[in-house]
Amino acid sequence: MNNCKDIYIYVEQRNGIIQEVSYELIGEAKRLAEQIKTYQVVAVLLGYNIKNLQVLIEYGADKVIVCNHELLQNYHTESYTKALDLIIKTYQPDFFLIGATTIGRDLAPRVAARCNTGLTADATLLEVDLTKDSPLLLVTRPAFGGNLFASITCDHHRPQMASIRPKVFAPLAPDTSRKGEIIDFNVELSKNDIHTETIKTIQKVQKGIDITKAEIIISGGRGVAKNFDILKTVAKELDAAVGASRAVVDEGYVSKEIQVGQTGVTVRPRIYIACGISGAVQHAAGMDKSDYIIAINKDPNAAIFNIAHVGIIGDALEILPLIKEEILKIKHSS
Ligand SMILES: Cc1cc2nc3c(=O)[nH]c(=O)nc-3n(C[C@H](O)[C@H](O)[C@H](O)COP(=O)(O)OP(=O)(O)OC[C@H]3O[C@@H](n4cnc5c(N)ncnc54)[C@H](O)[C@@H]3O)c2cc1C
Repeated sequence: MNNCKDIYIYVEQRNGIIQEVSYELIGEAKRLAEQIKTYQVVAVLLGYNIKNLQVLIEYGADKVIVCNHELLQNYHTESYTKALDLIIKTYQPDFFLIGATTIGRDLAPRVAARCNTGLTADATLLEVDLTKDSPLLLVTRPAFGGNLFASITCDHHRPQMASIRPKVFAPLAPDTSRKGEIIDFNVELSKNDIHTETIKTIQKVQKGIDITKAEIIISGGRGVAKNFDILKTVAKELDAAVGASRAVVDEGYVSKEIQVGQTGVTVRPRIYIACGISGAVQHAAGMDKSDYIIAINKDPNAAIFNIAHVGIIGDALEILPLIKEEILKIKHSS
């Protein structure tokens, strides 16, 4: 355990494309490494013939460990667990961070179990305690339905593992002058390592704007649940995505895919317009890092106003069409 060092990041790729969450985690790891001073940021990529690994260094990695194998081309629980486990046992990282995506949520607990260590899932904050013999990772995550935040440590086992949702951290601006090391890591894999068979691969087709990538989101809560058509019309004018609170999803008005919050997606748009949303902690957890929050609510005491940059007290169904008209005026005059 004493030999463990550095912060390792699992770099998620899908169809050979590095996922944004990997850059976000590299940026956060760099922030932690700067506090520890003696730690480096190491990005670990599993895949097949993936090009342009330098980009990981530009975003903050000091080293990139690449495991290149035909059987790692697409994510597979067993082959990926075997490769990551071997990398961890070889290099002995102190911290290991994984994006809490569908893949990360499958992979992280398996790797943790193989390495006989703990995992704190769905972290919202990472800090480091430097008062101990070796750096201790403090991982904060919501507990008891989001009503309190627990800071969890893994005192006796290594690596200290955490999974973090996409959009919780912002990536650093890439620096094309950064230099780093790219290391090839060989892992022996055969079809015998995989005990399940892929019958068919179906690519998810994105309908409309992806809420996790949208620059503007117009989100509706119970207050406007029956009137999502108005939100959709305004969203179209703004090239915005439509989001929702869980109340609206649970009542069956919209699909779970657009639920923002602790049990939905985390978003970080430039503008988040919350219409008829009370601002419960579980909702705020998924959107409070938006650059600019506009809240429209009938209730002047609604909690959403505590995190909004601009609060409009009134009926969202009356105010949204006015906003749309103004936007159209601006559009037509320019
Ligand atoms: C473990 C757990 C996980 C959860 N995860 C999530 C999650 O991921 N996402 C999430 O959203 N919630 C989540 N919740 C639920 C959360 O606690 C709230 O119940 C939910 O966010 C409330 O949704 P709401 O704000 O739309 O509804 P309400 O709380 O009912 O608020 C409706 C608001 O609309 C206002 N209003 C009514 N009519 C109008 C109008 N015409 N114009 C303007 N304002 C109007 C009212 O004043 C009120 O403030 C979770 C809860 C738990 C326990």
